[in-house]
Order: sequence, then structure tokens, then C-alpha cells
Amino acid sequence: MSSEFQDKVVLVTGAGSGIGRAAAQAFAAQGALVYAGDLNAEGLEETQGLITAAGGQVQIARIDVSDEADIAGLAARIDREIGRLDAAFNNAGITGPTHLIEDYPLEAFDRVIAINLRSVFLGMKHQIPLMKRAGSGAIVNTASVAAITGPGAMSAYAASKHGVLGLTRVAAMENAAHGVRVNALAPGWTETPMVVANSAQNPAFAELAKKAIPAKRGGQPAELADAAVWLAGPHASYVFGQLIVVDGGMTIGGFEP
Ligand code: NAD
Repeated sequence: MSSEFQDKVVLVTGAGSGIGRAAAQAFAAQGALVYAGDLNAEGLEETQGLITAAGGQVQIARIDVSDEADIAGLAARIDREIGRLDAAFNNAGITGPTHLIEDYPLEAFDRVIAINLRSVFLGMKHQIPLMKRAGSGAIVNTASVAAITGPGAMSAYAASKHGVLGLTRVAAMENAAHGVRVNALAPGWTETPMVVANSAQNPAFAELAKKAIPAKRGGQPAELADAAVWLAGPHASYVFGQLIVVDGGMTIGGFEP
């Protein structure tokens, strides 16, 4: 077991499934005490079981990332219990429904923005003061390839993820001189439970999507977790305000020979 995060405290949201769970496991495997947040209590307990069985340390918190009281409460709890926050992975998110813009229900649009974008603003709002006080820290926000592309029928999702990138750049600019690094991760097609279930329902679309990825396969949650851990860790010490794309080459552009 590597120990890059020994004695470090790391907050991970969306830790009850997919990329967030894999990241919580990866941080814990490197020695971190992980505070795992998610709306899904059952998923959180599964994550806790996996980390504990592997000998890691984890505390769980049922939170709604779009709710300021929950986000502020978790930061205050970490401050009270440990007095320090070394890294945060603001990762919880939803895809939302797919509709053309003219058909997109306003309530659904607002919900996606609240869960994907307001959550990142709120997370950083309450995490940054702890990190600034210590003079060090690292934040990784989960964006998407939809932060740099325009997937049809996904206006709310793409707008939220472009917004995550914007917030990340602003936060990086505001905090670099205080020893706090802020970056974003852009997963491509990643085989989390949600994507696997959708693929099972629509195998023809899933096959087509994979053919369009130069690597000819979807990413695994652990591959995204590795990138998040790197971005939050000491080997990324000179990386500020960047979007790290982990997508099997999906956004290279151009054509295969
Ligand atoms: P997932 O559905 O497996 O996990 C997301 C987790 O977020 C779930 O455990 C869910 O309960 C939690 N969550 C949802 N709403 C919440 C809320 N309001 N408060 C707290 N927790 C909440 O999905 P995933 O694929 O692991 O997605 C993780 C992140 O990666 C998301 O931000 C997603 O947009 C992004 N992403 C995923 C893919 C992909 O292909 N899987 C691609 C690009 C970006």
C-alpha cells in the first residue's frame, strides 16, 4: 500500500457509487482518512464496508450536495473532529433527462444545475477557508467531457459541467497564492453502475459509443479515481486550474486512419 495520503483528511462526494466510490477507496488505500458524502445511505454503507474490509479509514455522511446546510455541516464536522481538511473531491452529479432545449423542462434544468454546479460552488465555499487557514490543500471538481463539447439533448448537463470548469479556474486563480490548488477532472464514457445499466438497456447505442472512442472501450471507475488521486496529491504540486481529460481519446478530434 502506498502512503501518499498518510495522516491526510480527504472529503469525497458522490462516494456511494461509481467514480466517487472508487476514489474514496483509492484515497483510503493511500492512507487517507476519508469523509465519504452521498445522498444514498445504502451506497455509502457499501463503500464504508469495502474500505473498512481493506483496512482503510472512513467516516460517512448522508448529505445533499445541493443543500448549503448539509455542505457547511460536513465541513464544520471535519473541522470539529479533525481540525484539518487536506483535499476534497467534489464529484457527486447527475445526468438529468435528455430533451432538445425547446422541450427541456425548466424544473429539470434547475435541478441538474443545483446538483452538478451549485454543489461545487457550495463545496468550495466551505472547504477553501479550512485549507487557506492551513496554507495548503487541493480540490478536484468532477466536470466531464461535456465541459468542452456540446452533447445534443443534454443542455443542462453540458451547461453545468462548463460551469464547473469556470468555477474551477476562478477558484484556482483566487487561491493559488494561498497554497490551495484547484483542478477539474473530465471523465469520458466511464462504466459506472449508471452507465452499465443504460448500456444493458440500449446495447446498440453502447456499441456505437464505444466504437467512437479511440481506445475502443469505456473507462473504469478506478482509472478515473487514479487521476483524481494524482490531481489531489503531491505529484501534481505545480498543476493549477486545469481540466484533466480521462476519456480514452474521445475528445482528440480528427479521424482514425
Ligand atoms: P454514479 O451515479 O455512479 O454516482 C454518482 C453519485 O452521486 C451517486 O452515489 C449518487 O447517489 C450521488 N448523488 C446524486 N445526487 C446527489 C446529491 N444531490 N447529493 C449527494 N449525492 C448525490 O455516477 P458516476 O458516473 O460515478 O458520476 C460521478 C461524477 O462523474 C458525476 O459528476 C458525473 O457527472 C461525472 N461523469 C461521469 C461520466 C460517466 O460516464 N460515468 C462521464 C462524465 C462525467
